[in-house]
Amino acid sequence: RAKASGRDRWAVFDEAMREEAVRILDLEADLRRAINGDGFVAFYQPIVRLDDRKVIGHEALLRWRHERRGLLLPGEFIGLGEDSGLIEEVDWILYARVMEEVARGGEGYVSVNVSPRHFRSGDFAERLLRLIDRAGADPHRVRIEITEVALLDDVPRALRMLRTLRNHGVLAQLDDFGTGFSALSYLHRFPIECLKIDQSFVAGLAGEAQPESVAVVRAIQALAGTLGIHTIGEGVESEAQRAVLRELGCVYGQGYLFGRPAERAPERIERIAVG
Ligand code: C2E
Ligand code: MG
Ligand code: MG
Ligand code: MG
Repeated sequence: RAKASGRDRWAVFDEAMREEAVRILDLEADLRRAINGDGFVAFYQPIVRLDDRKVIGHEALLRWRHERRGLLLPGEFIGLGEDSGLIEEVDWILYARVMEEVARGGEGYVSVNVSPRHFRSGDFAERLLRLIDRAGADPHRVRIEITEVALLDDVPRALRMLRTLRNHGVLAQLDDFGTGFSALSYLHRFPIECLKIDQSFVAGLAGEAQPESVAVVRAIQALAGTLGIHTIGEGVESEAQRAVLRELGCVYGQGYLFGRPAERAPERIERIAVG
């Protein structure tokens, strides 16, 4: 009996695996097709000053409007795109949209997420600057978000890219900070404008507060202070989290408490936020 039910379970498992494999193949084919269409859109989420909620910028977040599956989040297809290399193409489509949006006007900066893959192709900085220039966008209103992995893969190359971008006004912020193997000894060498404190630590700051989270955020604040840069708390969902972040010295934040990602021009959000 045990054997039979065991086999049944394997049959179910096989079927589920098969369906998953088919789903992934379908999605990859769709992804290839979507690159030639207009299914990718940028959503914008405000980044605010924690004390008065003034909007200082927005993060552009990728969404895929899939014909049959509806609106897909990056988590549902980005892994696929990274494996196949398609994510770079998708990113360039999105960056073009975002630069057009920036060129249209408004205040504050817009940050775009950069997959570590881009840092492996030597001309990322030049290509982004060309795109900004062609769109007629102000480079001072554009920022990139990168993770530590991208920096440590090839340190001299990463340095060169970040310096080139910074020389033209495009600043960099370090995303999901605290989750990687933070190579503290390297950090001071990179021209980084700010650290984005990963939302997993922000989540542990209040409610069922985790002492480790408070300790990590405190350490990140101390580090940022030493480097003379500021921090942005990610994933702020409650007033309590906002209060603790401020107490710990974090000046900026982003999260559902201030606004969800939305398909609206930053300028419009800015006007709504101010008046
Ligand atoms: P990320 O850069 O760390 O972006 C923040 C993520 O947290 C976003 O998820 C955002 O919707 C979500 N978030 C914001 N506030 C809150 C909150 O208060 N609570 C919670 N629970 N979540 C919040 P999203 O849009 O699903 O993006 C996931 C990740 O996908 C991003 O993480 C980023 O690494 C990647 N990504 C997004 N857009 C792009 C893109 O255009 N290109 C590339 N290469 N990666 C992207
Ligand atoms: Mg980001
Ligand atoms: Mg992040
Ligand atoms: Mg994150």
